[in-house]
Amino acid sequence: MRATRATIDLARLRTNLAAVGAHLRAARNPAQPAPRICLAVKANAYGHGAVPVARAALQAGVSVFGVATVGEGVELREAGIKEPILLFGLPLPEEAPAIASAGLTPLCSDAALGRDLARAAAAAGRTVEVHLKIDTGMERIGCRPREAAAIAEQLRGLTGLRLTGLCTHFARSSEVDQEYSRAQLAAFHDAIAAIPDRDRLLLHTANSGAIVGLPESHLDMVRLGVIAYGYYPGGDLPRPIAVQPVMELATHLVYLKRVPAGTGISYGHTHRTAADTVIATLPAGYADGYPRLLSNRSKVLIRGRRFPVVGRICMDQCLVDLGPRPDADRYDRAVLFGPDPAGPDAAALAAIIGTIPYEITSAISARVPRIYRGEKSINHTLTCNLR
Ligand SMILES: *Cc1c(COP(=O)(O)O)cnc(C)c1O
Repeated sequence: MRATRATIDLARLRTNLAAVGAHLRAARNPAQPAPRICLAVKANAYGHGAVPVARAALQAGVSVFGVATVGEGVELREAGIKEPILLFGLPLPEEAPAIASAGLTPLCSDAALGRDLARAAAAAGRTVEVHLKIDTGMERIGCRPREAAAIAEQLRGLTGLRLTGLCTHFARSSEVDQEYSRAQLAAFHDAIAAIPDRDRLLLHTANSGAIVGLPESHLDMVRLGVIAYGYYPGGDLPRPIAVQPVMELATHLVYLKRVPAGTGISYGHTHRTAADTVIATLPAGYADGYPRLLSNRSKVLIRGRRFPVVGRICMDQCLVDLGPRPDADRYDRAVLFGPDPAGPDAAALAAIIGTIPYEITSAISARVPRIYRGEKSINHTLTCNLR
């Protein structure tokens, strides 16, 4: 197997999910049921691998999944996932038959899409469940709050369609100040007040930020993403849920050489060695998802110490300055990011280049093998059926 790999610790994913579950229960009167957890496994579970993550999550209390595309939902169904799968992103009309045959639950916010789904449901001889998405301030998808009751009625009038949920999405819940989220939640409650039998529908609004910052938004279900993978959505949020990164991206030093002072390193010679030193070549680059913007800015962890990335990160390789008398050998492991506090995590890399950990982990490309640790088989038959 190639040197560069992402190790995904499923035991840690389950621990993170258990910590979220405890937080959700603590936020609620013990007489009431805890909210369900919908785990966002879109974008290959933020780069961690949708199917192994979904299977591990099922063992940790997750009972609904969220995907962005129809293809992502079909992948879970083909892997034998039977739980409800919410389709967060809007499909094209031509995707309606695939939604019906895979039994996905789209978030729908207009009658036109509802009719396309109803037609596909009839053709497939099935019922398609939909959740009405209400836009309370994200301005991405969803109906206007004042139209919600009328659209809910139209969707309910379509044969083959079943309205089973109502939801909205927070635009600013990763901020410390939850005032805007609180206003969105109030707008959501106003919008659904006129929908008959809303108590029988699944109400959900909270993403990771609101799970932490706005307990009154938990309602019947939360839509959890980044916290499950071990990161917080915003740097300044309080951190009441103890989680650890699930992914480690590591490689091995495949080449070491001594260079004199003044040597230009990599494309464009954006780095020149200040003194005689040893440069290591790592077979990981931006096509693996290690961002080129980190050139001359990030560090990697080798034998418990951090060494700087020098020169431009290339498509498939990058270079690290080990210093003049390195305590490192060819084929040593080098961690690009992960849970070890001695090295950077994805949030630290994200901060260097002005992005968020979501973008770092979800960009780890398909050519990086994923190695799974901590798999727990609870059902032997199920395990034997895999692949
Ligand atoms: C991705 C997504 C989530 C999860 O967001 P996190 O910030 O990762 O918790 C929730 N809801 C919707 C609609 C999403 O697209």
